[in-house]
Amino acid sequence: MKRIYLDYAATTPMDKKVVEAMKPYFSDVFGNAGSLHSFGQEASAAVFKARRKIADILGVHYSTIIFTGSATEANNLALQGCLLQAIGTRQKAIAKTNVVVSAIEHESVMDTAKNLDAELRVVPVFKNGQVDLKKLEKAIDKNTVLVSIIYANNEIGAVQDIRKIADMIARFRSNRSNGINEIIVDGKTNTSSTTRTTFTTRPWPLFHTDAVQAFQYLDCKPEELGVDLMTLSAHKIYGPKGIGLLYVRNKRNNRSSGINENASTDTAFTSPTPLLHPLIYGGGQENGLRSGTENVASIIGFARAIEIADKEREKETKRICDLRDWFLKELVKIFPSASLNGQKRWRLPNNISLNLKGISNEEAMTFLDLNGVALSAGSACSARSLEPSKTLLAIGLSEKEARSSLRITLGRQTKKEELKQALKVFKAMKKALI
Ligand code: PLP
Repeated sequence: MKRIYLDYAATTPMDKKVVEAMKPYFSDVFGNAGSLHSFGQEASAAVFKARRKIADILGVHYSTIIFTGSATEANNLALQGCLLQAIGTRQKAIAKTNVVVSAIEHESVMDTAKNLDAELRVVPVFKNGQVDLKKLEKAIDKNTVLVSIIYANNEIGAVQDIRKIADMIARFRSNRSNGINEIIVDGKTNTSSTTRTTFTTRPWPLFHTDAVQAFQYLDCKPEELGVDLMTLSAHKIYGPKGIGLLYVRNKRNNRSSGINENASTDTAFTSPTPLLHPLIYGGGQENGLRSGTENVASIIGFARAIEIADKEREKETKRICDLRDWFLKELVKIFPSASLNGQKRWRLPNNISLNLKGISNEEAMTFLDLNGVALSAGSACSARSLEPSKTLLAIGLSEKEARSSLRITLGRQTKKEELKQALKVFKAMKKALI
């Protein structure tokens, strides 16, 4: 039996070209990129080239790219690092800081946010998966240090208008009255009114987006999106597991960010203080933000995966979108009462989250898996949890509806023939379970 993989949101197989690019860096070019001798310099040059390639594709300065051990770690660095830095910079911090996230963040953002020493404000989403922007605007106040909104959700594929949210945050940041009780001079808080003339717009709230699921199908240029921080993961784009990155805007990235039309008045550019505080100390790699010997082979693989995804994005998006729409139509023929969770617009092209109305997703997944079709109910991280999907509950599904929903995600290897075969298994499942 040929198995059919329809769980590309969980992970993707490594592209052969990525494997080839990585191969020399396991044993031929094995130096520690931190060593000064030629072995180390060879590795260091390769890391630099990869970093630069990624930066060029993202349209940013290479010093903004911070490699991490996963996107989970990158999200932790964004949230925890921002809070630590904000508290440190503000010294005697005014009132209690708060952090704002959407109700449909990935666990690596939501669970981190819940464990911060800050008030957590969770902004609801509509039935279609879109963040309620009015509520988001209301949630932000002068004690907000970070807003984190997922670019494309991993369960229902809902895509957010990140640029619009960035503009809202930019307006808030540049409104003097929102930062008047904090005057930042050389990264230090000074409440003396005589320093008012040196007042610049405050860097907070920083705006972070988790673009892990987005990169394969959507443009993810931080400056065009207007974000300060952006997370990516290699294994969702046919690269190796165990490597992620965090884009961290810095003063060297001084092209117009869109966050503030006049970049020189933005403290994030003029302040010598970086936006984040490290979570891992040691050799000071990754601009001091993430110590640890560079994972050279994985960095090379990540860069190659990003290059391929970027090159094939347009063509692949169209192909996958057509295939997904056809497959959804055929599925609804088999299950006429089924409904799509979320909406068609502002959705990742490879995602179908289907409410099968009354069919238990556990039973469905077991049947499908036994018959060679692999998919999931929700995110891979919560696959072992007995709880219904929080994302599905957040868009208004009942527990019962959430427990009847399946997540089908297509990918580069998905072909129509394979989907036709999968439809036969779905038909058999209907017979067996209804
Ligand atoms: N963010 C999103 C949206 C994801 O889908 C995932 C993976 O499931 C992650 C973060 C975590 O990525 P990683 O497996 O690299 O830690």
